Amino acid sequence: MMSLDDIPVTQLKGVGNALAEKLVRLGIQSIQDLLFHLPHRYEDRTRIIPMGSLRIGDVAVVEGEVMKADLIMGRRRSLQVTLRDDTGFLVLRFFHFNAAQKNQLAEGARVRCFGEVRPGRAGYEFYHPEYQVNPPAMPAPDQAALTPVYPLTEGIQQPRLRALCQQALGYLDRYPITDWLPEDMLADYQLPAISEAVKLVHAPPAGAPVHLLMAGQHPAQQRLVMEELLAHQLSLLQVRQQIQARAALPLLPTGELSRQFLEQLPFQLTGAQKHVFEDIRQDLSQPLPMLRLVQGDVGSGKTVVAAMAALQAISAGTQVALMAPTEILAEQHYQNFRSWLEPLGVQLAWLSGKVKGKARQAALAAVADGSASIAIGTHALFQNDVVFDRLALVIVDEQHRFGVHQRLALREKGVGGTLAPHQLIMTATPIPRTLAMSAYADLDTSVIDELPPGRKPIETIVLPEFRREDIIERVRAACREGRQAYWVCTLIEESEALQCQAAEVTAKELAERLPELAVGLVHGRLKAQEKAGMMDRFKDGELDLLVATTVIEVGVDVPNASLIIIENPERLGLAQLHQLRGRVGRGEQASFCVLMYHPPLSQNGKARLQALRDSQDGFFIAEKDLEIRGPGEVLGTRQTGLMQFRLAEFERDKGWIAPVRELAPRLMKEPRRVNALIKRWLGENIRYGEV
Ligand code: ADP
Ligand code: MG
Repeated sequence: MMSLDDIPVTQLKGVGNALAEKLVRLGIQSIQDLLFHLPHRYEDRTRIIPMGSLRIGDVAVVEGEVMKADLIMGRRRSLQVTLRDDTGFLVLRFFHFNAAQKNQLAEGARVRCFGEVRPGRAGYEFYHPEYQVNPPAMPAPDQAALTPVYPLTEGIQQPRLRALCQQALGYLDRYPITDWLPEDMLADYQLPAISEAVKLVHAPPAGAPVHLLMAGQHPAQQRLVMEELLAHQLSLLQVRQQIQARAALPLLPTGELSRQFLEQLPFQLTGAQKHVFEDIRQDLSQPLPMLRLVQGDVGSGKTVVAAMAALQAISAGTQVALMAPTEILAEQHYQNFRSWLEPLGVQLAWLSGKVKGKARQAALAAVADGSASIAIGTHALFQNDVVFDRLALVIVDEQHRFGVHQRLALREKGVGGTLAPHQLIMTATPIPRTLAMSAYADLDTSVIDELPPGRKPIETIVLPEFRREDIIERVRAACREGRQAYWVCTLIEESEALQCQAAEVTAKELAERLPELAVGLVHGRLKAQEKAGMMDRFKDGELDLLVATTVIEVGVDVPNASLIIIENPERLGLAQLHQLRGRVGRGEQASFCVLMYHPPLSQNGKARLQALRDSQDGFFIAEKDLEIRGPGEVLGTRQTGLMQFRLAEFERDKGWIAPVRELAPRLMKEPRRVNALIKRWLGENIRYGEV
């Protein structure tokens, strides 16, 4: 039977090739695609709002009489029309207008208009509102309907898209949309059928509950929201299924290497580290590729757990790849692992993008013939010329920049090209539970929910920039006592070049102001070797003060550093600040973090810095960050499409996450439904959150 999916939009009246091409940019090819191009909000044009009750930012219909209309000759010529009703007045401002409009809007004319309230010189204003002179009577409120507002692309205007959607709705009677949700599911949650929901959302009938629709809470909207969240969940489960369709080598540990490793560690594993490693140990001994995400707050000791996992693979005679997102972090892991594993007779290979020539050839050879048991590096680890002899475990540190797509690609890299490697993913920042359940549905999760003993809390101080002098003195005092400090420069500009420049200027200034201190500088534009050299000098205590851009955000571990100054913290996300702050508080001594903001601070900015000052719980901070900035920012995937929904809004709709997570595995048994839902909501080219 013909379905709406098979009917191209060009069947609609008024859609020629030119328009069809523009629609493709919105992912719309069939009539069904068009029907699933859903309004992301509504305008309430059903009621006339009294002018006296308007607030800035309101989008509203008002009606009144023109008191006066003046030509204003200021910097930009404009037509200024003052409108009055019984409760107040409002100015309509037009920068573009013709003589006919000017005549229409003359004193005494009755005008109804629709616009957004802005502050003006003498009161509230509408710029270029839609308006009607001598309007017909308004329908009674229960006869009026909300106006849908659609996401647009260049060259298609709102009314055009609105009309197309209305036309498409006409097809629904003859070609109902297939409902892929099982009936009992709909009944359980009292959700309407799909065609009904789609119709209502595009064309809310007169009298439909306005407040529910405006808030995205109408059952029709919620039905679509839940289906969308379900489709995303299913697509992740499908990835998991695809990866686990391959077998993996079960890694059965002898325990000898791990015993030696634990013996030489200067500390005991925490209970949480043991629990999490136990999860990993179990996974690795299965003939199914492990897909596990390890979360833990800053400093919870994820690296040691990774090393334990690596040793299990190595003692089973296989190879490990450990990948980090930046050179600095990869280098640090390399140093750590070398000091831990070389004494045990394990050979390592170092493969960053900057390793070139003979050194690279030697590393490649050691990886290829199996003499190196573990290769450590950046993304360069997975270039085509890197061939492993017996790769059985891939460890990825800092999940954020690693997408589902890459996880899929890793399948091909395992032993003999037929067995998939086990995958262990470690995140830099804690991820709120609901978000993890939704964005990482393809992974099992373990949480290291305990910090090593003896950690002193970090005292966080929020100061305005004009206290810079005092702050510099603080650095002097800390270093005089043999401590070390970080000074982190951030800029609002995206440009890395500008950030680096700012760091250079600051380093110079601080070196002049603090002549008795050895001041170092790291930023993203230094060569890898220079950066590593600088980090080493800081680590060895040769440098007292390290000025840096946010490149030091992740992972850098120097226990003697006990003071960190962060400039312009109001410009960073909370999770990122928490990460930066986590560079201190790693040793025995009391540590401090100074957030040096640029006044004035907005209400919101104040609340955020306060949250950071008052809490050191990464999961709590991550929740706050999620509320304030949304999932795309928190996951660092805003540009990649991961967690970008048409209708669902993470905060508003997170109540669905748990039910959807429960339903999804049940549906997975029916591939036809799964594929159809994924195609409906994620389209042909599924956006897997690629780097
Ligand atoms: P993160 O989870 O932030 O990656 P790291 O693995 O870098 O944390 O560990 C932070 C610091 O804590 C390191 O110096 C590490 O050696 C130390 N550490 C890890 N586990 C323990 C433990 N069980 N007891 C004491 N110190 C530990
Ligand atoms: Mg780490």
